[in-house]
Amino acid sequence: MSLFSEESLWSRLDDVTGDAGYADDHPPRKGFFTDTSVCIGCKACEVACKEWNEVPDDGYLMTGMSYDNTAQLGASTWRHVAFVEQPVPSATTDLGMPSFSLPGADPQAPDPQGAESGDSGVRWLMSSDVCKHCTHAACLDVCPTGSLFRTEFGTVVVQPDICNGCGYCVAACPYGVIDIRKEDGRAFKCTLCYDRLKDGQTPACAQACPTESIQYGDLSELRAKADLRLAELHEQGVDAARLYGHDPDDGVGGDGAFFLLLDEPEVYGLPPDPVVTTKDLGSMWRHVGAAAVTIVGLGVASFVGRRR
Ligand code: SF4
Ligand code: SF4
Repeated sequence: MSLFSEESLWSRLDDVTGDAGYADDHPPRKGFFTDTSVCIGCKACEVACKEWNEVPDDGYLMTGMSYDNTAQLGASTWRHVAFVEQPVPSATTDLGMPSFSLPGADPQAPDPQGAESGDSGVRWLMSSDVCKHCTHAACLDVCPTGSLFRTEFGTVVVQPDICNGCGYCVAACPYGVIDIRKEDGRAFKCTLCYDRLKDGQTPACAQACPTESIQYGDLSELRAKADLRLAELHEQGVDAARLYGHDPDDGVGGDGAFFLLLDEPEVYGLPPDPVVTTKDLGSMWRHVGAAAVTIVGLGVASFVGRRR
């Protein structure tokens, strides 16, 4: 990828792996489709990720804000299941139970004994979040040591053994995914189980998910599946359902890990319209180059002028 090509830093890119320098016979791009409409919040994905990748615990403190104790993605939370509790207007449901009226009472009046039941007035949204394995991964573009690299599957992996802990990637990620582990000083995040992929296996989280909320596979097939699922939900009247991160023409060129959400992205703590943070890197370097040429030119002119 040319450092000075602005488009290559943020626009649509259909062959992300080829762009990273892999030969034409590279494997198809792999990714995750997380369908939050069938997530039951069991956290099997979080546990499987920790077990397989030997990720340390996050401590056992409750946040006091949610039933979720890990709160967000981090250096030791590569999968995070968000629990969103939303108040909803309470509704009553006619259960069809027989009711009785007192002598002389209006038989049409509501039954004071409650042959009706209301819901709790709360709905839960659960969503298992992860690194998005971006088409244009700003974390990778800013890493000065080459610790972050694009794999032959189009995913983004960090190699802690050559990470110097500078934290540039942390500031560059538009989703707040990658993080420095304090006790360790180096950056960590989801690898999409690169070691398992190389063995032809499914990543641990997708393998463990009992509801197939997390689906792994060829990105193009996952996108087609997601379109079908979205149409199905809309047909069932779930108008709020939407896809997030699947559009190759969005501000990050689409994500390798995308989601079906049941509400606005902000409700799940996701940025509504993410833009790759290195988008302006090309023009910045051009301006720096122009400024350097001007300074050198002025220096030469003043030197020549003084000698006359
Ligand atoms: S989500 Fe963040 S950490 Fe993951 S690939 Fe994109 S920029 Fe990098
Ligand atoms: S394993 Fe599947 S159902 Fe359980 S929390 Fe994770 S995504 Fe949801």
